[in-house]
Order: sequence, then C-alpha cells, then structure tokens
Amino acid sequence: MNKDYRVLLYYHYINIEDVNAFREEHYNLCKEIGLLGRIIVSKEGINGTVSGTIAETEAYIQAMNNDPRFKDMPFKIDLEDKDAFAKLHVRVKDELVNLKLDKDVNPLELTGNYLKPTEFFEQMQDENTVVLDARNDYEYDLGHFRGAIRPDIEVFRDLPEWIEENKELLDGKKILTYCTGGVRCEKFSGWLLQEGFEDVNQLEGGIVTYGYDEEVQGELWDGRCYVFDQRISVPINRVDHKIVGKDYITGAPCERYVNCADPSCNKQILMSEETEAAYLRACSHECRVSERNRYVIDNGLSALEVAERLSKITN
Ligand SMILES: [Zn+2]
Repeated sequence: MNKDYRVLLYYHYINIEDVNAFREEHYNLCKEIGLLGRIIVSKEGINGTVSGTIAETEAYIQAMNNDPRFKDMPFKIDLEDKDAFAKLHVRVKDELVNLKLDKDVNPLELTGNYLKPTEFFEQMQDENTVVLDARNDYEYDLGHFRGAIRPDIEVFRDLPEWIEENKELLDGKKILTYCTGGVRCEKFSGWLLQEGFEDVNQLEGGIVTYGYDEEVQGELWDGRCYVFDQRISVPINRVDHKIVGKDYITGAPCERYVNCADPSCNKQILMSEETEAAYLRACSHECRVSERNRYVIDNGLSALEVAERLSKITN
C-alpha cells in the first residue's frame, strides 16, 4: 500500500476581522493547491480537516505557517493511501465548534490547563481524577478512554443541568477533558472553569495526538477514534487494542459504522457485514421496509428476497 496521501487535522483560535474575505481567500488558496476537505472559519479562528498528496499538504502547511496569524498552528498528520474527502468546503460559522453555550467562552481568555499525552496518561490513573469525554454519543460508543464519563446530553446547552445532577462525581476532583483534536476542549474546559470548577485540565492536541505519542502509544484508550471524514475512524492504542463498539442488532463486538439505509433516517449505526445483509442495513422495522431503503435498491433485491430476509428476523 502506497501512503502517498496525508490527512491534516488542525485548529487555531484567533480573532479574524473580516471572516467573509478570509473565507474567500482561504478557499482560493486550497483550490489552487488542490486540497480536499472541510474547513470552518469564524470570527474566532479556523478548524479543519483536509487531505491531499504529500506535496499538496506540505504546500498548505507552508502557506499557513507563513501567515503570522497561523505561524505556530500545529497540524496532526496522518499518512494514508488515498484522499479522505470527495470535495472541498470552506464554510463560515458563528463558532468553530457547535457548543451553543448560553454564555460563550473565549478560549484565548479562559481555558483549562494543557496536559501532554504522558501527563494525561499519568493523571488519568490517579483515583482523585475524573475523566470527561467532550464528544457525542456515537463517537464515545466506538472508542473512549478507559473509565471516562460521557455526559448524557444531546447538546452542550444541557451540560449545566447534567453537571448539577452529577455534582458528586466532580466535586473536589481533578477534571480531565478530551476530544478528537482538542478544539472542543478549549471551550469545554474554559466553560467548566467559568462554572467554578478549579482543577480543570485538557488533553493537548486531543486523542489523535495521544495516539501518535511514542511514549504512551495510545495506552488506556479503548476502541477506535471517530473522525469526520471518509475514514470514519482511526486506530489509537498500539499497546492493547480492545473493541468497545457493539453491533447495533446483535451486540457483538463491532467497529464498523454504517448509515441506516433509509435516507430519511440515515442514523449512524455499528453493524457487521453479516448483520447488514440480514437486517437490510436498517435501524428499525420501519427503515427496513421503507421503499427507499438503499441497501435493497443498491443490491437489486427483489420483493421476494426482501420478504425472505425479513421472515428470518425474530424481533
Ligand atoms: Zn433507520
């Protein structure tokens, strides 16, 4: 396998004066280089994942580092055998990450203490520590730090209430937060400080950086790390990989994410190839029998074949 491509993951919080002009300029730069990916720009900075050949990604890093605003911006770099995107999007948004906090936090002014992977590894094992996952449920389900807590919330706006109800988990503890590349924790940890928690720390560079680290080698991470591109997930733990994902139907260990075949549902579910075939890649009976079921259409299954598979489903 030739690893001639690279995926770059990066963010930087910095005040951007004219976001629309910056967006235009940045889109043209990426277009000219030939990069693909998804980039969010906002008045508070930049957050992106892009892919391209080694030469293309190098040109991008150079161009960004030549801009005084981004001269120190770190890039997480993965070698791959193909592009991880089909298109290039550069979008303007209010926030770099969709936290929708009632009271916004500026990480340039308030953010948790940064921990290097080795520090995070050590402090995570202290019994006075509580580790908080700052991501979504489907990300947590595929992989997380051993013993980490995922606040049971739909949107970040609900976090204050969750914290209120689970105060005994956090009171007097050292709090460690983590997310994929670090961009969410910059705000999440700042928010915790704003709420009055004192010992708040964040994993610098996120899970991805933790996976690169030669010393910790991803140890104490279980499962795989969900990423927002065509790869869907990347490995982290190089010491003792353990599968924590579970097949949506059978509950068997599984790390394969698919989208429910009913386009109006499209829910992300973990499913083995076997389960996918038996359950027509659907999350529910309604989605299985949907006349728009993509699994049925793409595989050219006849009504009889569909009925036969459905008849074998007992629950
Ligand atoms: Zn569904």
